[in-house]
Amino acid sequence: MSLSLSALAGIIGSVHILSSFCRALVITGFNACALYELQKKTTEKTHAENILWNLLIVYTVLNALIVPFVPWLPAPFGAKGTTIWSVTAYNFMTIIEVTVVALALIAIPRERLAALHHKLTLQDPLTGAGNRRALKEWVTINYINKKPIVLLVLDIDHFKSINDACGHATGDKVIIAVKSVCEQILPKPSSFFRIGGEEFIAVFPYTTVHDALTTGHKIRQEFTKRSTNFVGQNIEVTLSIGGAIRLSSGTPWLTLLDSADAALYTAKREGRNRIIIAPDSEAPLTAEAC
Ligand code: GH3
Ligand code: MG
Ligand code: MG
Repeated sequence: MSLSLSALAGIIGSVHILSSFCRALVITGFNACALYELQKKTTEKTHAENILWNLLIVYTVLNALIVPFVPWLPAPFGAKGTTIWSVTAYNFMTIIEVTVVALALIAIPRERLAALHHKLTLQDPLTGAGNRRALKEWVTINYINKKPIVLLVLDIDHFKSINDACGHATGDKVIIAVKSVCEQILPKPSSFFRIGGEEFIAVFPYTTVHDALTTGHKIRQEFTKRSTNFVGQNIEVTLSIGGAIRLSSGTPWLTLLDSADAALYTAKREGRNRIIIAPDSEAPLTAEAC
């Protein structure tokens, strides 16, 4: 439409203004659509997408601001006669936009691929949970946080015999069940990792010892209920959990992990299918905890 109006622009003055007005609207709409598409398709933006996003915001706003002033602005922005600065500014804006868009189109697929590779290196392929590398990264980034946390180490009981009795494919389903049960029951925000064959780590904010124990019990009960579907009624699949609580940022990660591991070992020794919170945890423990 803008082009057909432009064809008439030289003949009738008011049509020329209308044509310039339409052109400014089309350019604004184009930038706004690109902005919308970028927002719609991307959940976590890459570096190049962020640059493109900011550029499109600036261009959408600038072009939208130009629209009401079209009759008074010099061409190519508006309908008045051309001036050197308006042509220079217009060309400058166009060159910047075209260059940034072209570079972004090259960079975005590469950055997305790199981000996907990075994500895959942190993911356990069986359950989709974070792996040991992800845990290491989590500790580096988040453990310095001063908020009180609960660390749970979870281990499926007698898993080897489940594999032997029901086969590896069923064993895999049991492992996946731990992840889905934890995803459902752990409070938000929480972090969950598979650190070994049938061993997992969960970290979530501390509220009370009672809450931590209740979460652990719920996970155990729901896991046993759900995995019975895979292995049959005559085999009970259970989970042992060792926990440790950190109230201040003073305790090093490995010390906390050792405490939770020791609690897990106690839970195994005392008959499995239970949760025990480490007695050296920083929170005041009740008799039910250890
Ligand atoms: P405990 O109650 O003391 O924890 O005994 P357990 O049998 O659970 O522990 P153990 O460490 O003896 O056995 C773990 C088994 O987990 C051995 C290994 O074959 C199995 N395993 C490890 N990774 C996988 C996996 O990805 N899939 C399946 N199906 N089994 C796995
Ligand atoms: Mg085990
Ligand atoms: Mg184990």
